[in-house]
Amino acid sequence: VLDIRGLHKAYGDVEVIRGVDITARRGDVVSLIGSSGSGKSTILRCANLLEDSQQGEILFEGEPIRWKGTGLARRPADAKQVLRIRTNLSMVFQQFNLWSHMSVLDNVMEAPVTVLGRPRDEVEAAARGYLDKVGIGDKADAWPAQLSGGQQQRAAIARALCMEPRALLFDEPTSALDPELEQEVVRVIKDLAAEGRTMLIVTHDMKMAHDVSDHVVFLHKGLIEEEGPPGALFGNPQSERLRGFLSSTR
Ligand code: ATP
Ligand code: MG
Repeated sequence: VLDIRGLHKAYGDVEVIRGVDITARRGDVVSLIGSSGSGKSTILRCANLLEDSQQGEILFEGEPIRWKGTGLARRPADAKQVLRIRTNLSMVFQQFNLWSHMSVLDNVMEAPVTVLGRPRDEVEAAARGYLDKVGIGDKADAWPAQLSGGQQQRAAIARALCMEPRALLFDEPTSALDPELEQEVVRVIKDLAAEGRTMLIVTHDMKMAHDVSDHVVFLHKGLIEEEGPPGALFGNPQSERLRGFLSSTR
């Protein structure tokens, strides 16, 4: 579904992604781990074109992003392609970013109705279905502020699902939550993995990464230091840096 090849990204003179390849095939769950500042969020933001990148290819469903310009001036050339890719790679953020002036249901319905132009009644039925799926069907008419953090994050996941994306991108979906609320969200992510959803997950939660991933990528300063299936990566880490990182997170 998503293929990132030789990605480079700089902020001014500072290269923060220095040649990264990541592939998520249909049904794959790929987790990105690494210390703060290693470039995890930047990769997700480049993947769905929230950020420009200077070098490398990004292919979505085999279709390469078309660029104009080069280096720091490189931009996507085709606005329609950008919209298509963004709506197909729904992102869930650490801070759930629900609109506080809209009910939970309206939050979930907003983008499919306004961005995709789908009929309201159809979207409402789907939205209620996704809220049920994440276990907060009874909160459809509540305001976001009336929900716990874990419930708000599950609403944000329902909102991402309601776009019917080809893949979900999660940026630290549990790290703003108390440990007991975290587990509600982990359970939803596990269910989505079991359904065969394609997901790219940035996380500090090594247990979740171990349990849900097909492939884990350990980043260090904008480069992949080590990667592999979770059993091998966590069970038998090869690089000194990864061993150090894992012992610091236990
Ligand atoms: P964390 O675990 O703290 O979320 P991360 O791995 O997600 O870290 P990124 O947010 O991708 O790291 O940041 C990678 C590097 O890029 C960091 O050195 C950061 O300071 C830098 N960076 C990120 N966003 C910007 C920006 N808008 N302008 C300048 N530098 C930035
Ligand atoms: Mg980050």
